[in-house]
Amino acid sequence: MNKTIAVMPFIEGQLTDSLSDDTVDVINPANGKWLLAIPAGNNADVDRAVASARVAFDDGRWCHSAPSLRKKILHRFADLVEQEASTLDALDAEEMGKPISIGFSNAAASAGTVRFYAEALDKFSGDVFNSDHNSFVTQKRVPVGVVAAITPWNFPTACAIGKIAPVLAAGNTLVLKPSELSSRSAIRLAQLALEAGIPPGVFNVVPGMGDPVGKALALHQQVNLITFTGSTAVGQSIMQYAAQSNLKRVMVECGGKSPHIVFDDGVDLDTAADGIAHFLLTNQGQICIAGTRLLVQASVEEALLDKVVSRFNQAVIGDPLNPNTTFGPIVTQRQCDKVMNYIEIGHESGAELVTGGNRILSESGGYFIEPTLFKGVHADAPIAQEEIFGPVLSTITFTDEAEAIRIANSSAYALSAYVWTTNLTTGMRMAEGLHSNAAILSGKPTEGAGHAASSEPAGLSGFGTEGGVDGIKSYLRRKTNYFFYG
Ligand code: NAD
Repeated sequence: MNKTIAVMPFIEGQLTDSLSDDTVDVINPANGKWLLAIPAGNNADVDRAVASARVAFDDGRWCHSAPSLRKKILHRFADLVEQEASTLDALDAEEMGKPISIGFSNAAASAGTVRFYAEALDKFSGDVFNSDHNSFVTQKRVPVGVVAAITPWNFPTACAIGKIAPVLAAGNTLVLKPSELSSRSAIRLAQLALEAGIPPGVFNVVPGMGDPVGKALALHQQVNLITFTGSTAVGQSIMQYAAQSNLKRVMVECGGKSPHIVFDDGVDLDTAADGIAHFLLTNQGQICIAGTRLLVQASVEEALLDKVVSRFNQAVIGDPLNPNTTFGPIVTQRQCDKVMNYIEIGHESGAELVTGGNRILSESGGYFIEPTLFKGVHADAPIAQEEIFGPVLSTITFTDEAEAIRIANSSAYALSAYVWTTNLTTGMRMAEGLHSNAAILSGKPTEGAGHAASSEPAGLSGFGTEGGVDGIKSYLRRKTNYFFYG
């Protein structure tokens, strides 16, 4: 395992000592042992990184270069990410527990995101308005300037690249603050970007704690846009910091409590069970878009739950660095306690435990929890309403479309929903009625539109478009120029 990546600020193209004397210990969640210490970071680290990004933006070393050159460099960056994919995955696995066997949102897939944005960077345009005879009125889309990105630990490489690629493709400069739980891949990505030809100062990283580092970025007068992925509570703080400082633009991609909705209209229950178990088992349910509420018509409940349980039983639980492992530990002792507390709340609320509910592999010292399934959950119960961010699935029965929509929309979150039906009309009505983005499934999901699809959350899941060509536009602003030549 490569532990040689020094966790320190990466500013102006080089690793540099943090100006903070405080450190934070990172614990390996698979064995509970000390893994590394990182600097806590401070305002001075942030000031240096933002100053570097500011100068790099203002002198145009990146945004003024030819689109063809930027495209080439981003493709080279994608090549390097691809070449180092297994190392990046292993760094993340060791810090936060995502098994290296899990392909979903791994480093190789993230290289594809970089390639998409490399190709997309010259695929948007502005406007020329109809105007009078003596004028010419244009509107360009120009980069917003210095972007600060704050990312969570659950997919460290993929979440970082989800920001890096569109931000740089749009011509901005960047200061990235990864989660304090998973910093190494972010620093390695900055080194690879430099190696690919992205000029020094264009992509900086400041590791450290949310407060002070993330907070200082969100409050910074020289940051033009803050793009955040993480919990709703911190997203709310980010908006306050932006308002208190310089009215920087804000994008907040936050939590979720997404429903699977299964109709008794001939749905293949094996396919549905595969889909339902997939996100609960991938990354131990620590996925923003995981379907953690299972709404099912009573007539198929028992058969479906049997099939979901059998998928849960197939999970190979253990060390995330073992290539046979499919289900790793929960990220921290704290998060593990939180998930166990929700399981206790589930019991107290009168829900029936179908499977799981226990901490396991205690001899390892790691934070392992069995995939857990409750049934008989009330739609208003905490385990049906609050984001647990762990492998806990809450089953609720419904009678008809109207009730399914009412229950699904009763969550304050609105990130995604999965509707299993063979009836096109039901699917159309559900898609129209659900507040969140929706997948209507009469069979196994495929790649769909791939990187070309964009989406935007709603409610407490946040706002801001990510993905697709529109994902670049999020990091551009409209600039109108008037030419009068009469
Ligand atoms: P978190 O909100 O605790 O932390 C996210 C980031 O914010 C970290 O880098 C953290 O250091 C930083 N931070 C913490 N306090 C801060 C502050 N006061 N000011 C500025 N920055 C601060 O979230 P997490 O536990 O790392 O991640 C899990 C959450 O992320 C879940 O709620 C999950 O749903 C969400 N998530 C959402 C998406 C999405 O696309 N909607 C994707 C992945 C994860």
